[in-house]
Amino acid sequence: MADPKGFISTPRETPVRRPVDLRLRDWHEVYEPFPSGRLERQAGRCMDCGIPFCHSGCPLGNLIPEWNDLVWRHDWRDAADRLHATNNFPEFTGRLCPAPCEAACVLGINSDPVTIKQVEVEIIDKAFASGWVVPLPPAALSGRTVAVIGSGPAGLAAAQQLTRAGHAVTVFERDDAAGGLLRYGIPAFKLEKRHVDRRLAQMRAEGTEFRCGVEAGVDITADELRSTCDAVVLCGGARVARDLPLPGRSLAGIHQAMEYLPLANHAVAANQADPADPAISARGRHVVIIGGGDTGADCLGTTHRQGAASVTQLEIMPRPPATRPGHQPWPTYPMIYRTSGAHEEGGERAYAVSTLEFLGDSGGRVRALRLADAAGFDPVPGTEHELPCDLVLLAMGFTGAERPGLLTDLGVEFDVRGNVGRDASYATSVPGVFAAGDMGRGQSLIVWAIAEGRSAAAAVDAYLGGAAELPKPIPPTARPLVLTNPEGTEIPVRQERLWRSAHDIERRRFARSWSPRAIGASRLAPVPRGHGDHAR
Ligand SMILES: Cc1cc2nc3c(=O)[nH]c(=O)nc-3n(C[C@H](O)[C@H](O)[C@H](O)COP(=O)(O)OP(=O)(O)OC[C@H]3O[C@@H](n4cnc5c(N)ncnc54)[C@H](O)[C@@H]3O)c2cc1C
Ligand code: SF4
Repeated sequence: MADPKGFISTPRETPVRRPVDLRLRDWHEVYEPFPSGRLERQAGRCMDCGIPFCHSGCPLGNLIPEWNDLVWRHDWRDAADRLHATNNFPEFTGRLCPAPCEAACVLGINSDPVTIKQVEVEIIDKAFASGWVVPLPPAALSGRTVAVIGSGPAGLAAAQQLTRAGHAVTVFERDDAAGGLLRYGIPAFKLEKRHVDRRLAQMRAEGTEFRCGVEAGVDITADELRSTCDAVVLCGGARVARDLPLPGRSLAGIHQAMEYLPLANHAVAANQADPADPAISARGRHVVIIGGGDTGADCLGTTHRQGAASVTQLEIMPRPPATRPGHQPWPTYPMIYRTSGAHEEGGERAYAVSTLEFLGDSGGRVRALRLADAAGFDPVPGTEHELPCDLVLLAMGFTGAERPGLLTDLGVEFDVRGNVGRDASYATSVPGVFAAGDMGRGQSLIVWAIAEGRSAAAAVDAYLGGAAELPKPIPPTARPLVLTNPEGTEIPVRQERLWRSAHDIERRRFARSWSPRAIGASRLAPVPRGHGDHAR
C-alpha cells in the first residue's frame, strides 16, 4: 500500500490549466506541469483496496494500485513497467481518457477519488524523458504477414502486439500520417502530435511498417490484401457521421464536425505557431455547434482559437446534474455536468433545445437556426425562436463504419447495430479477417480501442499458430460500466466479473515474481532492466 494515511491527510489535487487568454493564443496543451513531489503525494492517496474496483472501471485492466504504490515510493521506473504491462500507449489515455477508473475508485464512495489519470500521464512522460521507453523488437520472426487497416489507437495497439510477437506487420493508412483520430480528429490543445510521432518512431524501430496515403479497397484491393497477407485486421474506425436532415440542410456554412476538425488539425500540423485559416474557418463567424458531447467541445476549443465572434453549443438533452445521481451509483460512470478546458474558454451552452430548421440568406448561406425547447426529443409548441449564426457544426455522433469500398469488397457481415460483426475471437465472417476498435464496437473511446487492439492481436496470433500468449483484456462484447436507466432495471456492465480485473492472471504473475521479464514470452527479445514486457 502507498501512504497508509494518505487518503485522509492529502486532499485530491489536479493540475491547473494555463490562463485562458494565454492558451487561446496557441495550440499547445492546456495544462501546466504538475510537480512530481505533489504527484507522488497524490499517488499516496491510493488505499490498495483488497478488491480494486478501479481495475474493472478501466477496460485495459491497468494495474493501478501497483503503480500508485511505486510512484509514492519514488520508483518511477518500475511504475512505468507496470503501466506498460497492460497499456501500449499510456501517453494517449493519460491525456484523453475520461477515466472511468476514477468513477470506480473505492475512495470515491465518500471522498474524492485518486487522480489515477494524472499519475498515469506523469509516469509515461517521465519514462520517455528518462529514455526508459525503447524499441522492443521480437527475438525471432514467425514468417507470417499481417495487414492492419487503419492507424488509430486500435490499429496501433494491434500492430505493436503482433510485431512484438514476431509477425511482419504492415499498417495501411489512407491519411498522409498515422494516428487516426489521435492525429487529425483530436485537436493539438488536447494532444500534441509529438506524442504520436514519438510512439510511431518506437514502433517503426520494432519493425512495424507504415504505408500512409494508401486507402485499402482503392490503392490496394481486398483480393490483394487477402492473397498477400496471412491475416487482415480491420481497424478503420466508425466515421459515418449522424446527420440532421432538416429543411435548409444544404445551405452553405453547415458542416459535419469531422469535415471541420481535420482541416483545422492539418493547418496546425503545417504550422503550429501560426496556422493558416483552413477552408472551413470560424474566424469572425457566429458559430453554433449542434451536439453537447466531447466532439462538440473539440469544435468549441478550435473555433475559439480560430477567432470566432461567438459560439453556442446546443444539446437536445436536459442539463445533467452536478453530482452523481442516485440511479447511477458508484462504481458506474455517471452522466454529470462536466466543464472541459474548451468550455472554460468561453461560449454558451444551451440544453433541452431542439433544432427545427436551418434558415438561409439571399446568398444561400445559413443565417440562423429556428429552435424550440425540447421535451425529450420533441419540440415544445409555442417556444420557437431564431438563433442567428453563419457557421453550423454538426457534432451528433457517428452511426458506424464506412461500408463502400473495402468492407463491401471483402464481403464482411455486419451486426444488428451496423458495425462490422465479429465472433468471440474478433474474427469477422470472412476467414482470416478480424475487426477491432470503433469499426467493430461503434464510436467509443481510446481506452476501448487499445483494449480491443490488444485482444484482437491475441486472437490473430493464435490464428497464425503463434505461441506468444498475448493478453486479451476484453471480449468484443464488453461494455462500459454505465447505468443510464433511471429505473435502474438494467446495468449494461462488462459481461465479465464486475469486481475482478481482466488482468487477474497478469497480476498474479507479477505477485509471484517482481521481475517484469517473468511474464515475457520466449519469442520476445530479452529486454533491458526496467522496460518490462510492454506487449503484455
Ligand atoms: C473529434 C473526436 C474527439 C474525440 N476525443 C476523444 C477523447 O478525448 N478521448 C477518448 O477516449 N476518445 C475520444 N474520441 C473517440 C476516439 O478517438 C475513438 O474512439 C478512437 O480513436 C477509435 O480508434 P480506432 O483505432 O478504432 O479508429 P480511428 O481512430 O477512427 O482510426 C481509424 C483509421 O483508419 C483509417 N482508415 C479507414 N478506412 C481505411 C482504409 N480503407 N484504408 C486505410 N485506412 C483507413 C482512417 O483514416 C483512420 O486513420 C474522439 C472522437 C472524435 C471524433
Ligand atoms: S486508461 Fe483510462 S480508465 Fe484506464 S487507468 Fe488510465 S485513465 Fe483510468
